[in-house]
Amino acid sequence: MTTKENSTKVKALILEKGFRINENALEGLGTKFKEEHRGYDDSNWGVKKGMLVPSEILLPGNIVSCTHIRPDSPHEIRREGNKLYFFANEKNMSEVNYLPRPKLWNQTLSDGTDIKKIVNFYGWKTLNINIYSGCEFWDNKLPCKFCSVSPTQKRYGEVVVKKSPNQIREAAKKAFSAGDEIEFVLTTGGSYLDPDKEFNAHIEALNIIKEFTPWNGKIRGNTALMPPLKLERLKLLYETGMEHPSFNLEVWGAKKFTEICPGKNKYRGLNNILEAYKYAVKNFYGEGAMWCNFVAGINTLEDLKAGFTFMGDLGVIPGANVFHPDVGAKLGTKLKSPSYDYIVELYRHAAKIYHEKGFLPFFTEASLRNSLANEAFKGWI
Ligand code: SF4
Repeated sequence: MTTKENSTKVKALILEKGFRINENALEGLGTKFKEEHRGYDDSNWGVKKGMLVPSEILLPGNIVSCTHIRPDSPHEIRREGNKLYFFANEKNMSEVNYLPRPKLWNQTLSDGTDIKKIVNFYGWKTLNINIYSGCEFWDNKLPCKFCSVSPTQKRYGEVVVKKSPNQIREAAKKAFSAGDEIEFVLTTGGSYLDPDKEFNAHIEALNIIKEFTPWNGKIRGNTALMPPLKLERLKLLYETGMEHPSFNLEVWGAKKFTEICPGKNKYRGLNNILEAYKYAVKNFYGEGAMWCNFVAGINTLEDLKAGFTFMGDLGVIPGANVFHPDVGAKLGTKLKSPSYDYIVELYRHAAKIYHEKGFLPFFTEASLRNSLANEAFKGWI
């Protein structure tokens, strides 16, 4: 087994069952290594107040996995000598490491705000600005059932919930000059009931960020948002230069969408979202540019594979984050992450679509921490 294959296997084990973390493995977090930053969700269970945990796990071969601390996991990360290792059922599977703490996080904005409250890094080299760390679907008791954005912000309050255009401008400017390598930008944010309010906020943020990207008027990466009411307005999104926008469906099928995403269903509607994809592919992006993210493990494997195939046939690249039970989410621990076999089979199916259609998976394996799409595409699993 190659290093990449072994690291991919360890990542799949983490995405399936998480791990316990020994207190001897926490040294250097918050100073040398990047600590967890709860900008929207929280999938770490049993973490004592004030305890810093790693945001991601860096595996040999530069494969990055999300951290999912679960006290009942059979796996553990612990220090032996001066190195950290991942043990699966007490079998030493791999040395592990943590990501370096972003240099950017040592800075503050001119209004005195700690910059960490405005920007994050998603995985290793993807700059992440979550422009609204809240969601009006939560405020109206219709959140997506896997989501924990509002309870996480209430519990930790580690970020500014609504980032102002001025804060985004100053943070983006500093981000591209702080000395951290940036390969992609990811903008995210919760929804407003009014689709245009949400859409306008994203357009404004993207146009600000574009002032500082070194990519000739383009923004490499992804912005995840819901489409506007009038589809002609998608032209504004295209004109921001954002290369891979997504209107994430999260689950596949009208019944599941209604059950799991009641706010998106009521205030946007599955068919309207699909129409927006068709319009944007036909008029602006062409095939193989737009993304659609799902949460792997809520649908049956067969249903989600069918959803991937459907979106691929629309010219949209399908992908998924593996479901993780979140503290505060409506699903809580009622649902577990999908099995190892489900995870592997789903991403093999995705890789088949990508190869057949000439698509590329989202980001890279160093950023896409909760998915094996890149690893499967490269044949490591
Ligand atoms: S739209 Fe759904 S997933 Fe997104 S922030 Fe709102 S409740 Fe959470």
